[in-house]
Amino acid sequence: MLLKKKTALSFFISASIIAILVGFEYANFIKIRNEIHLLEVTDTIRSESLQLRRHEKNYFLYPLKAEEESAAVYRRIGVLKSILSGHIPEENTGRFPRLKSSIQEYEQRFKKIQGSVRDLSSEFESIKDSYKDYAKFFPIIELTFLEHPIVGAEFLEKVFVLPPGHRLVAGLKDLDSEINLLRKNGEDIINTSQEMDKVARGSVDHTISISQMAMVVFFSLFLVIGIGTLFVISRSVVDRLKFLTDVIEKTGKGGFSQVKVPAQEWGGDEVGVLIEEFKSMGKKLVQREDELHRKETELYQSRKLAAIGTLASGVAHELNNPLNNIYISVQRLVREIGDGYPMIIKESIDDILSQTIRVKRIVGDILEFARGRDLQAREVELNAVISRAYELLGGSVNLEKVSFSLDSDPGGVLISADPEQMERALVNLFQNAVDAMPDGGDLTVKVKSGKDRVELTVSDTGKGMSAETIEKIYDPFFTTKDKGTGLGLGIVFNIIKKHNGDILVRSQEGKGAGFMITLPKGKG
Ligand code: ADP
Repeated sequence: MLLKKKTALSFFISASIIAILVGFEYANFIKIRNEIHLLEVTDTIRSESLQLRRHEKNYFLYPLKAEEESAAVYRRIGVLKSILSGHIPEENTGRFPRLKSSIQEYEQRFKKIQGSVRDLSSEFESIKDSYKDYAKFFPIIELTFLEHPIVGAEFLEKVFVLPPGHRLVAGLKDLDSEINLLRKNGEDIINTSQEMDKVARGSVDHTISISQMAMVVFFSLFLVIGIGTLFVISRSVVDRLKFLTDVIEKTGKGGFSQVKVPAQEWGGDEVGVLIEEFKSMGKKLVQREDELHRKETELYQSRKLAAIGTLASGVAHELNNPLNNIYISVQRLVREIGDGYPMIIKESIDDILSQTIRVKRIVGDILEFARGRDLQAREVELNAVISRAYELLGGSVNLEKVSFSLDSDPGGVLISADPEQMERALVNLFQNAVDAMPDGGDLTVKVKSGKDRVELTVSDTGKGMSAETIEKIYDPFFTTKDKGTGLGLGIVFNIIKKHNGDILVRSQEGKGAGFMITLPKGKG
């Protein structure tokens, strides 16, 4: 994946995490606000319920302030009712109606108690005249009957000797049980309101802790995924750039052939592509360096040959004329000499003749090597040139033990060449092959025709060459043979170069040798 895409993806992931967190927190804050509002409501219900109980208590304790306190009780009931008629939160769905009905019950019971109190007060008024002896007790009973109605009833029964079924006694007993029920009702209201308050507080706490948790979770995710991914990407980029810097530094110092780019998957991002490009550039540089080295060696070889050639041709030229004179004179002597001459003279003259021929051949080779001849190139058929060269060699060398084979296109292969010089080059190569196989062997010539060039390989199964010998074979006068001139391959090299061709040798000691020549193809 491209670096641009990777960075964009990592940014997108981080942004998404933050966006989810913001959205979640926003929704949660709205929930918290609603819950706090509800908490305020439940808190008001709780405090109003407590106020209601306080006024209820005062109503029973202070009969003189009964009017004022009962009004306060109704006011609180009114406030509670109006609060409860509003919105019912989910968590308190069961408690709101319960509280509502408790308050209704409470109100009815309070009204009933007020009615009973009124009835009992008028009843007291009516019996006052019948029990004049007890007149001093009436104010006490009237003031305390609301606080302890059952005590009042017992007092009336025992002291006033009122029958248990008397309206006053029965009324006080009823009032007592009603008051007890009202108190229970009141307690119920307090408990429910406290429960509601607790639930609302718990709910707010819960929502706040969810909000905190979300922040911790999402921020950690953001750190791990968002920042983590960016960190990994940047590290991998920095590492690879560092590696690339090292490689470039080494390459700059010319050591690119030693620089090894690990065969590791670098990923398809920009840096990976850069490294791949650099890798292939390195390969091309190595190839170019090899090619340069080869050309340099060739140039060196050509210069060396040219320098030696200039010197040798000068010497050979000077030697050529006197040598010709010696040769002609010796030939004349051979013809003139008769039987009257001693044997030693005859033998010596023969020896002079054969040595002169040998020196003439060397001088001829030197002149050929040094000057060469101009190229008379034309379209020629290579198979024919090869066969003729082998025949020519057969004229001067015994080829009985040599098995010759030509592997080529039977239809013929056309090249642009000087046929005489090409023949000369091939004769030299065949001569060397035959010399390397004194006990016989295979001499194989293969011709492979390519698109623009023709490949010609001359190989033998002879004694082969050591690496040191291979290095020197094109040097003039380098020979390992007793009667060699060391000029044969130098002449071959010059001829092939003149034809814009290349020559390569492959050989191992004891395993034969192979000379591979490439030549430009003919237009035909
Ligand atoms: P000469 O044949 O006179 O020695 P060349 O230049 O033709 O000179 O060859 C140089 C040397 O290269 C030879 O002496 C021989 O050692 C080696 N050489 C050339 N061709 C072959 C071959 N086919 N097998 C083994 N050695 C060879």
